[in-house]
Amino acid sequence: MPMPRFKRVLLKLSGEVLMGDQQSGIDPEFVLELAKEVKAAKETGLEICLVIGGGNIFRGISGAAKGMDRAQADYMGMLATVMNALAMQSALEQLGVHTRVQSAIQMDAVCEPVIRRRAERHLEKGRIVIFAAGVGSPYFTTDSGAALRAAEMKCGALMKGTSVDGVYDSDPKKNSEARRYETVGYDKVLADNLKVMDASAVALCRDNNIPIVVFSIREQGNLARVLSGEGVQTIVQEEA
Ligand code: UDP
Repeated sequence: MPMPRFKRVLLKLSGEVLMGDQQSGIDPEFVLELAKEVKAAKETGLEICLVIGGGNIFRGISGAAKGMDRAQADYMGMLATVMNALAMQSALEQLGVHTRVQSAIQMDAVCEPVIRRRAERHLEKGRIVIFAAGVGSPYFTTDSGAALRAAEMKCGALMKGTSVDGVYDSDPKKNSEARRYETVGYDKVLADNLKVMDASAVALCRDNNIPIVVFSIREQGNLARVLSGEGVQTIVQEEA
């Protein structure tokens, strides 16, 4: 199925892609490679909102599993997403791409608070807006943050860049017969618990009719290929 053309998209990258070949943390060289992908996508004329996870640094649920208070651990996870956002901002600006970071947890010394109208203005001026700290509340994830920002910024699609090239009917790493969907309905993703994004994020996209495009960000040039209709991806959308 051909990819529709979009004017504005939200790109969600999980924190893990920022660590490159490391076991955790941020690899600035790899972040620069990712930034080149984002720049190439922007140069096709797209307006881009970015959301980056924090799993390469800290996940609330892992802290809670080791005895931490869950909400406290989640706030730490949100702070991790701010670090990732700043790393990506730095890489993009190194490439001459203008950006602003807006955080759902106010942090005046390092970035702006989330203000939708101001974000609109940044996009109009050709800047990339990086939304940090998810929705700003514990017990959520940056997938939900991405769905929320995609809805409020009226993005044509939520582009979910991962390490696999789409959504499969079973785990392709474990099952060589696993089949990739070209398109799949929101309700099937939720009913079959297909690993796309967490359920609240998928439901928010469904309720606002925002297609979720799942693709691999690990292959060079793939984001631009997917956006131009020549890449490999799965589109999660309303079933006909
Ligand atoms: N988080 C949160 N609320 C949000 C977004 C994130 O509490 O709205 C916390 C949560 O602990 C999560 C962590 O931040 O585990 C990092 O985000 P996420 O797991 O979504 O990162 P990713 O898996 O995309 O790297």
